Amino acid sequence: MDVSTFLNVVIIRDVTITLHKFIDYFKGFEKVEAVKEIFGDQTEELLNHLKVEFVSRRGYMGVDEQDGHLIVSAYYLKSGSERDIYLDIIHELVHVKQCKQGQKLFDHRYDYVDRPTEIEAYRHAVKEARRIGMTEKQVYNYLRTEWMRENDLARLAKAVGVGYDPEANSNQHR
Ligand SMILES: [Zn+2]
Repeated sequence: MDVSTFLNVVIIRDVTITLHKFIDYFKGFEKVEAVKEIFGDQTEELLNHLKVEFVSRRGYMGVDEQDGHLIVSAYYLKSGSERDIYLDIIHELVHVKQCKQGQKLFDHRYDYVDRPTEIEAYRHAVKEARRIGMTEKQVYNYLRTEWMRENDLARLAKAVGVGYDPEANSNQHR
C-alpha cells in the first residue's frame, strides 16, 4: 500500500470501481436484431458478462478502453429520452465489440466526428433509428450533442449517411 511517510494522512489508493451487471439494468437487448448483428452467436454470452459503471458526472455514456465495460451517467439515464438512451446503448455496444477486437477506441489522430470507430457506431445506431421509425430530421437531431459544433455535426451526419440538410430547411424555420 502506498503510505505517505511525510504527510500526516493515509490514502488508500487501490480502490475498486463498483460495477453492475448490464443485464440487471438493460433488459431484453439480447433479443434486439441490431444487437445480434453486432455480436452474432455470442450475443447472450457477451451481454451476460458485460459490466456497467454508473457515474455521477454529466455526459452520456462511453466504454472503458481498459476492459470494455460500459460507463453511464446516472444523470443522463434518469433525464435523457428513452429513445436516445436505447440508441446510445446500440452505439456503445458497437464500441464494446471494437474493444474486444483490440481496436483503439480513442484514436486522437482523428477528430471525434471523423474517427472510424465512431462512424461505425453511429452508422449502426442510425440504421436502428430508421427502423424504429425516426425521420431523417429526428436522426439528425439525435446526432447533436451540446459540445459539437454545427459544421462538425453536419460532417458527421454526412459521414453516416443522414439525408437531412438544416441549411436547406433553414428558411422555413427561422
Ligand atoms: Zn462512440
